[in-house]
Amino acid sequence: MTPDQTAIAEIRTHYRTCPLCEATCGLSIEVEGDRVVRVRGDKQDPFSRGFICPKGSTLGELHHDPDRLRGPLVRRNGRLEEASWDEAFAAIENGFGPVFEEHGRESLAILLGNPITHHLAPALYVGSLVRACATRNVYSASTLDQMPQHAVSGLLWGDPNAFPIPDIDRTDHLLMLGANPMASNGSLITAPDFPGRLKEMPARGGRLVVVDPRRTETAVRADEHLFIKPGTDVFWLAALVHTLFEEDLASVGRLEPFVDGVDEIRELVAGFTPERVAGICGIDAETTRRQARALSGAAAGAVYGRVGNHTVEFGTATAWMAAILNILTGNFDRPGGVMTSSPIASRVDDGEPGGRGYRLGRWKSRVSAHPEVNGEFPAASLAEEMETGGKGQVRAVVTVATNPVRSYPNSERLDRAFAELDFYVAFDIYVNETTRHADVILPAPSTLEEEAYELTFMVNAIRSFAKYAKPVFERKGPSEADIFARLVLVLRGEGATADPVILHDELVEDAVGRMLDPSKGAEVDLEREEIMAALEGLSPVEKLLDLKLRSGWQGDLFGRRSGGVSLEKLAKHPHGVDFGPMVERFPERLKTESGKFELASPVLVEDWARVRARLESSDGEEGLLLIGRRHVRSNNSWMHNVETLVSGRSRCTLLVHPEDAKRLGLANGGLSEIRSRAGSLRVEVETSEEMMPGVVSLPHGWGHDVEGIRMSVAADHAGVASNVLTDDGIIDTASGNAVLNGIPVEVTAIA
Ligand code: SF4
Repeated sequence: MTPDQTAIAEIRTHYRTCPLCEATCGLSIEVEGDRVVRVRGDKQDPFSRGFICPKGSTLGELHHDPDRLRGPLVRRNGRLEEASWDEAFAAIENGFGPVFEEHGRESLAILLGNPITHHLAPALYVGSLVRACATRNVYSASTLDQMPQHAVSGLLWGDPNAFPIPDIDRTDHLLMLGANPMASNGSLITAPDFPGRLKEMPARGGRLVVVDPRRTETAVRADEHLFIKPGTDVFWLAALVHTLFEEDLASVGRLEPFVDGVDEIRELVAGFTPERVAGICGIDAETTRRQARALSGAAAGAVYGRVGNHTVEFGTATAWMAAILNILTGNFDRPGGVMTSSPIASRVDDGEPGGRGYRLGRWKSRVSAHPEVNGEFPAASLAEEMETGGKGQVRAVVTVATNPVRSYPNSERLDRAFAELDFYVAFDIYVNETTRHADVILPAPSTLEEEAYELTFMVNAIRSFAKYAKPVFERKGPSEADIFARLVLVLRGEGATADPVILHDELVEDAVGRMLDPSKGAEVDLEREEIMAALEGLSPVEKLLDLKLRSGWQGDLFGRRSGGVSLEKLAKHPHGVDFGPMVERFPERLKTESGKFELASPVLVEDWARVRARLESSDGEEGLLLIGRRHVRSNNSWMHNVETLVSGRSRCTLLVHPEDAKRLGLANGGLSEIRSRAGSLRVEVETSEEMMPGVVSLPHGWGHDVEGIRMSVAADHAGVASNVLTDDGIIDTASGNAVLNGIPVEVTAIA
């Protein structure tokens, strides 16, 4: 064997799912010794078909990043210093103790970030952590992103987590608003190789219409792009609904016997004529009517709205109108329309329609009485809960994989509030803009040292798909499940030295109990001992995953269903197993009390008063409005420490239409000052005709030039923090979602 052959022989290839975004691409990871030498798209993955984006190929860089924390940090004499795991948990116990004793459990807040949903152990253990915190101060990225869709899904069909997924592989007409999957690779839809799937649409006669204040990377590929003023999508969608009624185009189809409230909707949109909304939205009436006809006339069409639809003042009302359009055109739960997913690790609803329904506002926030939604308070209300004195003031925080000082609105205010906390524990791999305030930081192991199965995002997947992978590298410290378990046990008062096995066993017992409970749908006679014996030898997360898989709708029910899935069988298919496209699941999936689609839910009708009031008061004249933007090489703030992803010309610029630039005296490449009610910052101008006149755009997640962070690459490519400008004083009141788009701003040139 030649030296070259020896080198090749030492390279091992691992297949697993990319954990960096919702697209869940299959990766082929080549490893030599303890180094990742190459990451490529896995061509044999039947779901992602070899697709990979620039972020996925840098997974090795992330793994080897010297700034990524390998062990805990504990604050001593004002400095974060390396500590052992035992020291870290002892510090947590000692830090929380006096705060809870003096101020009670409601003085604690827990903040959850996106990466939790991409990793197996957090997805399985985060519920225990939230319960262990024993506080109603629960915040997450959901109220910065998609809470309007949770609220609408819950109120209309009774399941806040059953999202309407556009069936992009089979649709004839996709109307997309406020989404840019060419950069994001899809959101609230798991469709790896989104670009390839969009490319395939024309071959089967499919049309793509994009509605967005920017001619995005997706818009340039569309059959038609319409500029729309930020935040006004609700008026335009209401005008489409209005047109369906006016021209007698509404036709619910198969699910008609299960739809209530059509007449109320007709009345609600009566004043929203295409002519009336034209000035507000910037889309002429004839175009609006033409779009309504095209949608209703398509053999199968889908309305899909995302971040630009949901992170606005009327986010819930916008998501509501999109759902109404899908239902009234007969496109809900129809192949090629919008459908719901059937994850392999879940059971399916095959009983009679109807359930307990969905409620929000079961409790209210302390300072501004915001209703809880999905058990959470608005992220935009966190700062006031930290600053406002009195019983229940937030004085201690647990953050899990989140950087609120960059991702929450009015970030400067939140930064100041974090600096004043009595005690703060961060579960994070970096010392970033938020975790620099922590008293203890617990880093998760590298994602390549953990088992991988995509649990959360299969809930939004356009195909049912399952793939399991063992760790690529041996772990050098405790598992992520062990770290979660120890934190849970400290918070439950069981002590810093409590054995994490206590929680692991509890979770397995609970899962087995649910499996055997006839009231929870136990399908066959199984014995607890038989199940426990079958789980022997598996890691804690593998046990929980195997239970989900084997009791899921494709599971082997521990040998009772021939050909069914188990973890062992899945492990024999390293590229994953495809179980086919989405299938019709309604009316059985209806979980409203009435067993019907409740189109005119009282919560939504009440919220509509805000929309109507704006319709009546608006003359369509707004000043300059700020929107965000996403780049394919960026994923919020946390991937900015990967050199490959941030190198080259700065992408953190203010995009301005040339006409606006001329009017404001701004030069391409020059410096500008941008001001909002919340704050101001200085940023480079980039003139671009891709912007709608009157709208400017700044990407989010930047602003890494602060003292105390330990992200050397990010600090060298700092950019500015767009959330200095976003306003925590305005929220989408129905869902509590933050308003991150359509921010009134003034821009001036700086000499
Ligand atoms: S699109 Fe998302 S899942 Fe796919 S490689 Fe890129 S970051 Fe990973």
